[in-house]
Order: sequence, then C-alpha cells, then structure tokens
Amino acid sequence: MINIVILGSTGSIGLQALEVIARHSDRYRVTGLAARDEVDVLVEQAEQFKPEVIAVGDEDAYPSLKNSVAGNIELLSGIEGLSAIAAWPNADIILVAVSGAIGILPTMAAIKAKKRIALANKETLVTAGDLVMKEIKNNNIALIPVDSEHSAIFQCLHGERDSLNKIWLTASGGPFRNFTFQELEQVNIEMALCHPNWSMGPKITIDSATLMNKGLEVIEAHHLFGVDYNDIGVLIHPQSTVHSMVELVDGSFLAHLGAADMRIPIQYAFSYPERLPSSAQHLDFTKLAALEFQAPDVKRFPALELAYEAGRTGGTMPAVLNAANEIAVQYFLGGKIKFNLIPRLVEQIMNRHESISGPNLEEILSVDKWARIMTEDIINRGGIC
Ligand code: MG
Repeated sequence: MINIVILGSTGSIGLQALEVIARHSDRYRVTGLAARDEVDVLVEQAEQFKPEVIAVGDEDAYPSLKNSVAGNIELLSGIEGLSAIAAWPNADIILVAVSGAIGILPTMAAIKAKKRIALANKETLVTAGDLVMKEIKNNNIALIPVDSEHSAIFQCLHGERDSLNKIWLTASGGPFRNFTFQELEQVNIEMALCHPNWSMGPKITIDSATLMNKGLEVIEAHHLFGVDYNDIGVLIHPQSTVHSMVELVDGSFLAHLGAADMRIPIQYAFSYPERLPSSAQHLDFTKLAALEFQAPDVKRFPALELAYEAGRTGGTMPAVLNAANEIAVQYFLGGKIKFNLIPRLVEQIMNRHESISGPNLEEILSVDKWARIMTEDIINRGGIC
C-alpha cells in the first residue's frame, strides 16, 4: 500500500486525486487530508477515506473541525499543522495541491522528511524554486510535476534529457484569446471563470485568462528541468490536445497528447514510473477537427512577458510577480478591480522592487509579504497607473 497525504483535498486537484485513489484503492490509501477551512467537505472525505490525520490551514476552522470529526484521527491546524502533515511519518507521497505561495513551507517540510512530492502548486517553485530544487537534490527525492504541461514534458524527456534543445509549453489562450483591448476592459468575473477546456479552481482559471498562468509555468519549467529562459517557448494551442512538447537537438519533437483531464497527470505522479488504467476519456483522433498553434500576443496579454522578465531577473523578483498577482486576482474575484488591471498592478509592484540575488527562505517570505501589502495599498489608494 502506498500512503498519500493530500494538501488541498477540497480543491479541484484534491477532489480529482481522491477519485484516482478510490479507483485504485487496492494500491493507494489516504493517510492525511488538509485544506484551508472547508470543514464540512473534510469531514465527508474523512468518513469515506479514513485518514490518520487532518489539518486545516486556517486556525479559526480548528474548533469546528474538532467538534465534527469523530474517532481516532489526529487534528492539526495552521501553517505548522500543514507542515507536520506534509512530513507525516506514515506517508509515502505528498500531493501539494494548495493554491498560492502558502505551499512553500509544507513543501520544504515534505522534502526534508524525504517524501516523494507530487507537485500541483506552481507558486512554490515560482517563489522559491532555487531553494526547493536544491533541497530536492540534497535529499535525493523525486519531485513529480502534476501541472499538465510539466507532466507532459517530464514524460517526453524520459531518457532524452541530454538531447533537449527547447521546451514548448502549450496554452489554450483562455476564454479571451480573441478579445480586443476594448473587450478585455469589459471582462467580468463570470466571463473570466469560464475556461474553455479545463475545469480548475478560481485562482488558476483567472491566471489562465490573463496568461499569467503560462508565465508562472515558464518559471516552473525553468526550475523543474534546469532549462534557460531562452530555451522555453510558449505556443497558443486552443484545443489543449497537445499538452506540451520537447524539441530535441536533431529536430525531432516529442509531444504528449491526451484528453484535457487532470486525473491523468495526477495518477502518473502517483504511479510513476508505472502506468495504470484511468477513468479519463481516450482521444478519438477521427473526431479532432484540427490542431492549431500560434504565437501568443504579449501586447494584449502582458502578464506572460512580465513573468519572463521576473524569471530572467531571478532572485526575489519572481516572488514579487507571484505575490502581486495573487493579491490582484483576489481583488478581481472580489469585484474590486477590473480584469485588465491585473498585469498592470503586477508590473507596478515589480518596478518598485530591487531584486535580492540568492535569497534565503526568510528573505523570500519577507519580500512575498512586502509585495502583498504594497499591492493592497496601491489598490486601496486607487493608485493603479
Ligand atoms: Mg498547467
């Protein structure tokens, strides 16, 4: 039996991971469940999957968790609770599927406890990628990406690492791929939450609409595969059938194709290097009308360029990009700012930051905090320019 802890079990990735585990219950067992504050869902999940431990990130949710969970289950809370469950002695695999830079400390705790990491939280690598990858190497553990593009690249690179020329990340282009500047100004929350191909949580769905998601994924790919930013390209591919590609030195391209179903990369991160049958639909090539590819329009979607810039600057700049974006998206979802202001806010905060090179974890977390406060401050003062 392989024991799995899910950080973010009530989110989109977490729910699909539980489906995968239920389908292969002869092989996988849920050892721990963690979420921010969705106690009702956690209680239902605990009844079905019988974990040893449950954690809520939000301390305020702890009393209601304590009142609702019966039986011999250990209950934890706060960032210490998330870090403890990530290092749980009986766990073999930790699926990090929380949203945002909150994933950094639990991921570090899991690495130090020498767990296999199934990483669905790109903000951790964007914010602290150098440190995380160094710890992964020092502890000699496996980090398997769950992000569909990176899972695709990970699979394509199997046995081909030395021949890699360039990574090509594909992007659906989101719901506003063909919108004009004027139309982008009129985007509302309902429109932005309606992704054409993938069903995902709200934060990543908005990031997909701004193309910031692809920008974060460029930085994620840089860290995961140790590839220079000049050797990571992005292609708009509206059908989301090619999940990403690698270009090899001899001109060969290897691509990963499949249904747009996150259960495939989640399951692969659990079963690697084996493969198991899955409930995902298989592609019917006779029903695919066409596969289109085009260059992204960075004028209408400046977030992608901002991410390349932050990545190339390195140091603490990607942490600033990420934190400012997290706050901007949160305020957009709260109806406080317009959609097209998200990248402008991120740029403004980046312009105010002098990157620290080779930062330690404390410096990264302190810059992350600064960028969040600064972004909120500019929004609340109406100072977006
Ligand atoms: Mg992705």
